[in-house]
Amino acid sequence: MTTPPVCDYEGSDYQTSFWDQGGRQYEDRAEAIALKRLLPARGRLLLELGAGAGRNTPRYTGYERIVLLDYSRTQLQQARARLGDSPRYVYVAADVYKLPFVGGLFDGATMIRTLHHMADAPKALKQVRNVLQPGATFILEFANKLNLKSIPRYWFGKQTWSPFSLEPVEFAALNFDFHPKAIRKWLTELGFSLEKTLAVSHFRLGLLKRIVPTAVLVFFDSVLQWTGAFCQVTPSIFVKATVVGRDVIPPYAEDILSWFQCPECGAHPLDERGNHLLCPDCGKKWAIHDGIYDFREPLI
Ligand SMILES: [Zn+2]
Repeated sequence: MTTPPVCDYEGSDYQTSFWDQGGRQYEDRAEAIALKRLLPARGRLLLELGAGAGRNTPRYTGYERIVLLDYSRTQLQQARARLGDSPRYVYVAADVYKLPFVGGLFDGATMIRTLHHMADAPKALKQVRNVLQPGATFILEFANKLNLKSIPRYWFGKQTWSPFSLEPVEFAALNFDFHPKAIRKWLTELGFSLEKTLAVSHFRLGLLKRIVPTAVLVFFDSVLQWTGAFCQVTPSIFVKATVVGRDVIPPYAEDILSWFQCPECGAHPLDERGNHLLCPDCGKKWAIHDGIYDFREPLI
Protein backbone atom coordinates (compact mmCIF):
# COMPACT_ATOMS: atom_id res chain seq x y z
CA MET A 1 0.00 0.00 0.00
CA THR A 2 1.50 3.36 -0.96
CA THR A 3 0.89 6.34 1.29
CA PRO A 4 1.86 10.01 0.99
CA PRO A 5 5.33 11.07 2.19
CA VAL A 6 5.69 11.75 5.90
CA CYS A 7 7.70 14.44 7.62
CA ASP A 8 10.09 12.54 9.87
CA TYR A 9 11.48 14.12 13.04
CA GLU A 10 13.71 11.10 13.69
CA GLY A 11 16.85 12.23 15.49
CA SER A 12 15.59 15.83 15.64
CA ASP A 13 16.26 18.08 18.63
CA TYR A 14 12.97 19.88 17.80
CA GLN A 15 11.81 19.99 21.44
CA THR A 16 15.01 21.70 22.60
CA SER A 17 15.80 23.94 19.64
CA PHE A 18 12.25 25.00 18.72
CA TRP A 19 10.46 25.03 22.08
CA ASP A 20 12.86 25.04 25.03
CA GLN A 21 15.44 27.47 23.59
CA GLY A 22 13.62 28.83 20.58
CA GLY A 23 11.89 31.83 22.18
CA ARG A 24 8.46 30.27 21.82
CA GLN A 25 7.15 30.56 25.37
CA TYR A 26 4.46 32.89 24.04
CA GLU A 27 3.17 30.37 21.48
CA ASP A 28 3.37 27.53 24.00
CA ARG A 29 1.36 29.40 26.63
CA ALA A 30 -1.21 30.65 24.11
CA GLU A 31 -1.69 27.04 22.97
CA ALA A 32 -2.11 25.85 26.55
CA ILE A 33 -4.95 28.35 27.03
CA ALA A 34 -6.65 27.30 23.78
CA LEU A 35 -6.44 23.61 24.75
CA LYS A 36 -7.93 24.28 28.16
CA ARG A 37 -10.86 26.03 26.52
CA LEU A 38 -11.54 23.19 24.10
CA LEU A 39 -10.79 19.99 26.04
CA PRO A 40 -13.73 18.14 27.58
CA ALA A 41 -13.64 17.87 31.36
CA ARG A 42 -13.48 14.09 31.23
CA GLY A 43 -12.69 11.34 28.76
CA ARG A 44 -11.52 7.75 28.61
CA LEU A 45 -8.98 7.14 25.88
CA LEU A 46 -7.28 9.95 23.96
CA LEU A 47 -5.20 9.59 20.81
CA GLU A 48 -2.55 12.31 20.61
CA LEU A 49 -1.46 12.45 16.96
CA GLY A 50 1.99 13.93 16.42
CA ALA A 51 2.71 13.82 20.15
CA GLY A 52 6.41 14.53 19.58
CA ALA A 53 8.30 14.75 22.85
CA GLY A 54 5.07 15.04 24.85
CA ARG A 55 5.02 18.83 25.22
CA ASN A 56 1.21 18.97 25.38
CA THR A 57 0.52 15.56 26.93
CA PRO A 58 0.41 16.73 30.60
CA ARG A 59 -2.33 19.18 29.55
CA TYR A 60 -4.78 16.35 28.77
CA THR A 61 -5.69 15.99 32.41
CA GLY A 62 -9.30 14.83 31.96
CA TYR A 63 -8.44 11.61 30.08
CA GLU A 64 -7.89 8.30 31.84
CA ARG A 65 -5.35 7.05 29.29
CA ILE A 66 -3.43 8.61 26.43
CA VAL A 67 -1.89 7.01 23.37
CA LEU A 68 1.04 9.12 22.20
CA LEU A 69 1.48 8.57 18.47
CA ASP A 70 4.33 9.90 16.40
CA TYR A 71 6.18 8.84 13.28
CA SER A 72 9.51 9.43 14.98
CA ARG A 73 10.73 6.85 17.48
CA THR A 74 13.31 9.24 18.94
CA GLN A 75 10.61 11.83 19.66
CA LEU A 76 8.65 9.14 21.50
CA GLN A 77 11.76 8.12 23.43
CA GLN A 78 12.06 11.73 24.59
CA ALA A 79 8.37 11.72 25.56
CA ARG A 80 8.85 8.50 27.51
CA ALA A 81 11.89 9.92 29.31
CA ARG A 82 9.84 12.98 30.22
CA LEU A 83 6.52 11.31 31.17
CA GLY A 84 7.69 7.89 32.35
CA ASP A 85 6.18 4.44 32.05
CA SER A 86 2.91 5.07 33.84
CA PRO A 87 0.11 2.74 32.65
CA ARG A 88 -1.67 5.96 31.67
CA TYR A 89 0.61 6.43 28.67
CA VAL A 90 1.01 4.16 25.65
CA TYR A 91 3.69 4.98 23.07
CA VAL A 92 3.07 4.11 19.42
CA ALA A 93 5.26 4.83 16.38
CA ALA A 94 3.12 4.76 13.24
CA ASP A 95 2.26 6.41 9.96
CA VAL A 96 -0.88 8.54 10.26
CA TYR A 97 -2.04 7.21 6.88
CA LYS A 98 -1.96 3.63 8.25
CA LEU A 99 -3.15 3.85 11.82
CA PRO A 100 -2.79 0.53 13.68
CA PHE A 101 -6.00 0.78 15.73
CA VAL A 102 -9.40 -0.87 15.53
CA GLY A 103 -12.21 1.38 14.32
CA GLY A 104 -14.06 3.52 16.87
CA LEU A 105 -11.50 2.89 19.64
CA PHE A 106 -11.04 6.43 20.95
CA ASP A 107 -13.42 8.94 22.50
CA GLY A 108 -10.96 11.78 21.95
CA ALA A 109 -8.11 12.84 19.66
CA THR A 110 -5.84 15.83 19.34
CA MET A 111 -3.65 16.86 16.44
CA ILE A 112 -1.62 19.97 17.27
CA ARG A 113 1.00 21.39 14.88
CA THR A 114 0.89 18.15 12.93
CA LEU A 115 -1.54 18.58 10.01
CA HIS A 116 1.01 21.19 8.94
CA HIS A 117 3.14 18.28 7.63
CA MET A 118 0.41 16.33 5.83
CA ALA A 119 0.77 16.14 2.06
CA ASP A 120 -2.73 14.61 1.87
CA ALA A 121 -4.62 16.22 4.75
CA PRO A 122 -8.10 14.84 3.91
CA LYS A 123 -6.69 11.31 3.82
CA ALA A 124 -5.02 11.79 7.21
CA LEU A 125 -8.22 13.25 8.70
CA LYS A 126 -10.21 10.29 7.39
CA GLN A 127 -7.88 7.93 9.25
CA VAL A 128 -8.49 9.91 12.43
CA ARG A 129 -12.24 9.80 11.91
CA ASN A 130 -12.12 6.01 11.48
CA VAL A 131 -10.63 5.40 14.92
CA LEU A 132 -13.03 7.76 16.72
CA GLN A 133 -16.38 6.76 18.21
CA PRO A 134 -19.62 8.60 17.58
CA GLY A 135 -19.72 11.54 20.00
CA ALA A 136 -15.90 11.68 20.27
CA THR A 137 -14.10 15.02 20.51
CA PHE A 138 -11.38 15.96 18.03
CA ILE A 139 -9.20 19.00 18.67
CA LEU A 140 -7.31 20.04 15.56
CA GLU A 141 -4.75 22.80 15.21
CA PHE A 142 -3.76 23.87 11.72
CA ALA A 143 -1.51 26.50 10.17
CA ASN A 144 -3.64 29.14 8.46
CA LYS A 145 -2.64 30.41 5.03
CA LEU A 146 -5.11 33.31 5.35
CA ASN A 147 -3.18 35.26 7.95
CA LEU A 148 -2.17 38.82 8.79
CA LYS A 149 1.30 38.36 7.29
CA SER A 150 0.38 36.53 4.08
CA ILE A 151 -2.46 38.87 3.05
CA PRO A 152 -0.39 42.09 2.79
CA ARG A 153 2.54 40.15 1.34
CA TYR A 154 0.27 38.93 -1.44
CA TRP A 155 -1.26 42.37 -2.04
CA PHE A 156 2.18 43.98 -2.31
CA GLY A 157 3.52 41.30 -4.64
CA LYS A 158 5.95 39.80 -2.10
CA GLN A 159 4.54 36.28 -2.48
CA THR A 160 3.11 34.50 -5.49
CA TRP A 161 0.49 32.28 -3.85
CA SER A 162 -2.90 33.63 -2.91
CA PRO A 163 -3.94 33.33 0.75
CA PHE A 164 -7.57 33.48 -0.41
CA SER A 165 -7.68 30.29 -2.50
CA LEU A 166 -8.86 27.08 -0.85
CA GLU A 167 -6.01 24.72 -1.78
CA PRO A 168 -3.15 24.13 0.71
CA VAL A 169 0.15 25.88 0.09
CA GLU A 170 3.45 24.04 0.54
CA PHE A 171 5.71 26.92 1.53
CA ALA A 172 8.63 24.60 2.35
CA ALA A 173 9.11 20.88 1.73
CA LEU A 174 6.37 19.01 3.62
CA ASN A 175 5.19 22.18 5.36
CA PHE A 176 1.64 23.16 4.48
CA ASP A 177 -0.67 26.02 5.38
CA PHE A 178 -4.43 25.55 4.97
CA HIS A 179 -7.47 27.71 4.31
CA PRO A 180 -9.96 27.59 7.24
CA LYS A 181 -12.84 27.01 4.81
CA ALA A 182 -11.13 23.95 3.33
CA ILE A 183 -10.60 22.47 6.80
CA ARG A 184 -14.26 23.04 7.70
CA LYS A 185 -15.35 21.38 4.47
CA TRP A 186 -13.16 18.31 5.00
CA LEU A 187 -14.26 17.87 8.61
CA THR A 188 -17.94 18.27 7.76
CA GLU A 189 -17.70 15.77 4.89
CA LEU A 190 -16.12 13.24 7.26
CA GLY A 191 -19.05 13.44 9.67
CA PHE A 192 -17.73 15.91 12.21
CA SER A 193 -19.78 18.78 13.55
CA LEU A 194 -17.75 21.91 14.34
CA GLU A 195 -18.26 23.13 17.88
CA LYS A 196 -15.75 25.92 18.47
CA THR A 197 -12.99 27.75 16.62
CA LEU A 198 -10.23 29.75 18.32
CA ALA A 199 -7.76 32.10 16.61
CA VAL A 200 -4.36 31.66 18.29
CA SER A 201 -0.92 33.31 18.19
CA HIS A 202 -1.97 36.81 17.13
CA PHE A 203 1.42 38.24 18.04
CA ARG A 204 3.81 35.82 16.38
CA LEU A 205 6.26 38.56 15.41
CA GLY A 206 9.91 38.48 16.49
CA LEU A 207 10.13 42.21 17.28
CA LEU A 208 6.94 42.22 19.34
CA LYS A 209 8.02 39.15 21.27
CA ARG A 210 11.35 40.81 22.09
CA ILE A 211 9.97 44.13 23.38
CA VAL A 212 6.64 43.16 25.00
CA PRO A 213 6.64 40.89 28.09
CA THR A 214 5.39 37.39 27.27
CA ALA A 215 2.67 37.55 29.94
CA VAL A 216 1.18 40.66 28.28
CA LEU A 217 1.14 39.04 24.83
CA VAL A 218 -0.40 35.87 26.27
CA PHE A 219 -3.11 37.89 28.03
CA PHE A 220 -4.14 39.78 24.90
CA ASP A 221 -3.96 36.63 22.81
CA SER A 222 -6.24 34.82 25.26
CA VAL A 223 -8.82 37.61 24.98
CA LEU A 224 -8.63 37.68 21.19
CA GLN A 225 -8.77 33.88 20.74
CA TRP A 226 -12.58 34.01 20.89
CA THR A 227 -12.66 36.12 17.70
CA GLY A 228 -11.97 32.83 15.90
CA ALA A 229 -15.71 32.20 16.03
CA PHE A 230 -16.25 34.72 13.23
CA CYS A 231 -12.82 35.68 11.84
CA GLN A 232 -9.73 33.54 11.31
CA VAL A 233 -6.64 35.52 10.28
CA THR A 234 -4.05 34.29 12.80
CA PRO A 235 -1.25 31.88 11.82
CA SER A 236 -2.65 29.16 14.07
CA ILE A 237 -6.29 28.03 14.33
CA PHE A 238 -7.74 25.56 16.84
CA VAL A 239 -10.96 23.74 16.03
CA LYS A 240 -13.05 21.56 18.32
CA ALA A 241 -15.10 19.05 16.34
CA THR A 242 -17.36 16.24 17.46
CA VAL A 243 -18.14 13.03 15.61
CA VAL A 244 -21.82 13.17 14.76
CA GLY A 245 -23.92 10.49 16.47
CA ARG A 246 -24.28 8.96 19.88
CA ASP A 247 -21.76 6.76 21.62
CA VAL A 248 -22.93 3.20 20.95
CA ILE A 249 -19.56 1.49 21.30
CA PRO A 250 -18.66 -0.03 24.67
CA PRO A 251 -15.74 1.49 26.58
CA TYR A 252 -12.28 0.37 25.53
CA ALA A 253 -10.94 -2.82 27.07
CA GLU A 254 -8.09 -2.58 29.58
CA ASP A 255 -6.02 -4.96 27.47
CA ILE A 256 -3.87 -2.82 25.16
CA LEU A 257 -3.46 -5.71 22.71
CA SER A 258 -7.15 -5.53 21.87
CA TRP A 259 -6.69 -1.95 20.64
CA PHE A 260 -4.40 -2.81 17.74
CA GLN A 261 -4.98 -4.06 14.23
CA CYS A 262 -2.42 -4.81 11.54
CA PRO A 263 -1.69 -1.53 9.69
CA GLU A 264 -1.00 -3.49 6.48
CA CYS A 265 -4.00 -5.82 6.24
CA GLY A 266 -6.35 -4.71 9.03
CA ALA A 267 -6.38 -8.10 10.79
CA HIS A 268 -7.30 -8.13 14.46
CA PRO A 269 -6.32 -9.14 17.10
CA LEU A 270 -2.55 -9.42 16.80
CA ASP A 271 -0.67 -12.09 18.76
CA GLU A 272 1.89 -11.00 21.31
CA ARG A 273 5.18 -12.84 20.81
CA GLY A 274 7.61 -11.38 23.35
CA ASN A 275 9.36 -8.56 21.56
CA HIS A 276 6.86 -8.21 18.74
CA LEU A 277 3.21 -8.49 17.69
CA LEU A 278 2.42 -11.02 14.98
CA CYS A 279 -0.33 -10.51 12.41
CA PRO A 280 -2.25 -13.82 12.13
CA ASP A 281 -3.30 -13.06 8.53
CA CYS A 282 -0.37 -11.54 6.64
CA GLY A 283 2.34 -12.79 9.02
CA LYS A 284 3.97 -9.39 9.45
CA LYS A 285 5.77 -8.76 12.73
CA TRP A 286 5.58 -5.42 14.51
CA ALA A 287 8.31 -4.64 17.02
CA ILE A 288 7.89 -3.68 20.65
CA HIS A 289 11.07 -2.09 21.94
CA ASP A 290 11.99 0.46 24.60
CA GLY A 291 8.35 0.56 25.65
CA ILE A 292 7.25 1.67 22.16
CA TYR A 293 4.90 -0.24 19.85
CA ASP A 294 6.49 0.25 16.46
CA PHE A 295 4.18 0.00 13.43
CA ARG A 296 6.33 1.94 10.97
CA GLU A 297 7.81 -1.01 9.11
CA PRO A 298 7.44 -4.71 9.86
CA LEU A 299 10.39 -6.71 11.18
CA ILE A 300 12.11 -8.85 8.57
ZN1 LIG B 1 -1.52 -8.17 8.58
